[in-house]
Amino acid sequence: MSCSSKPLVDGQGRVIAYLRLSLTDRCNFRCEYCSPADYEEGGQLLTRGEIRRLAAAFGTLGVRRIRLTGGEPTLRKDVVDIVRDLVATPGIEEVALTTNGHRLREIAGPLREAGLTSLNVSMDTLDEARLHRISGRGAFLDDVLQGFDAAAAAGFPHLKVNTVVMGDVNEDELGALVRHAWSRRATPRFIELMPFGQGIPVPTAVVKKHLADQGLRLAPDDKRGWGPAHYLREAGAEPPRFVGFIGAITENFCDRCNRARIAADGGFQACLGGETRFNLRDRMRAGASDEDLEAVVREALQLKGPRHHMDEAGAKLVLLPMMGIGG
Ligand code: SAM
Repeated sequence: MSCSSKPLVDGQGRVIAYLRLSLTDRCNFRCEYCSPADYEEGGQLLTRGEIRRLAAAFGTLGVRRIRLTGGEPTLRKDVVDIVRDLVATPGIEEVALTTNGHRLREIAGPLREAGLTSLNVSMDTLDEARLHRISGRGAFLDDVLQGFDAAAAAGFPHLKVNTVVMGDVNEDELGALVRHAWSRRATPRFIELMPFGQGIPVPTAVVKKHLADQGLRLAPDDKRGWGPAHYLREAGAEPPRFVGFIGAITENFCDRCNRARIAADGGFQACLGGETRFNLRDRMRAGASDEDLEAVVREALQLKGPRHHMDEAGAKLVLLPMMGIGG
C-alpha cells in the first residue's frame, strides 16, 4: 500500500512542500530560550527505518525538502546514515540539517559526502563566557568554531549561521557575527526570539539598526530561500554577500507557510505555534498503513489555522518546548 500522489494542502490552501523532522529531543546545550529547565528529554525516538518510511510517504505526497533538526540532531549516531537514506528518497530534492555545530569537526565531511546540501549552524555569540551563559553548559566555543570551519571546508552549497538575538545578551556583537560568517563564505541570519522560554526579544527593525551602528552598509535585495527569511545585501559587494532576517514575531509570514513538522516523539505538528498533534510513530507501531498515515496528516493540515498567535500576550503556547518540537 502507498500514499496517493496528491500534494499536501492545508486548511488555508497553502501547499506543504517542506518538512522539518526532529531526530531527537536530546541536546548537550540548555539554551534557556529553547529548553526549559524542567524539560525531561529522552522519549522514544523514531527509528531510522521509521524515518525512512515517513520520508518515502512525504516524498510521494509532494514534500521536496526535509530539514533534520532537534534537540541536537548530530547526537544521533546514525545521523549520516539517515541523511544518506533521505537523499536517496524519490521526490526529496534537498536534505538540510540544523546543528549547534559542536560535532561538525568530525562529521561535516561525512554529512557532505552523504549528500547533505544545506547546513545551518546556530551561533549566538563568539564569546566563550557568553556561550557558557546562553547554553547553560561547559565551554564549547572552540568545538563550535572549529566545527563551523570544518563545515566551510566541506563545501556545502548552502551554509548559514543562525543567531537568535537577545536583548542585553548579544546585541553588541551582531556585526562581528556577520563578518565571521562572511569570512567563511556563509550567510548569517538573525532570528527574532519566539516565546518558548526565557529572553528578551529584539525586533528585526532594531537588529538592522544595530548592524548599521556596527559598521555594516546593507541594501535591499529580493533574494528568497525555502523559508521565511528575507535578505539584505552588502552595499557594493561583488560577489554579493547577504544577511538574512527571520522576523517570526514582528513580520508575520504565515500566509507563505509551506511547512509542517514531525517532533522527536513522532508527533505531527502542522504549525510551530499550534497545538494540533497526531502521533505518527504510535500509529506506525500500531500497524497503520501508508494510507492511514496520509489520512492523519491531511486531517491535521485541515485544522491548521491562518496564522500562529505567538505574538499575542497571554497566548497559550505549544505543548512542547522548541527543543521537543524541533526548531
Ligand atoms: N540543536 C540545533 C541547533 O542548535 O541549531 C537544532 C535545534 S534548534 C531548536 C534549531 C534552531 O531553533 C536554532 O537556530 C535555535 O537558535 C532556534 N531556536 C530555538 N529556540 C528558539 C526561540 N525561542 N526563538 C527563536 N529561535 C529559537
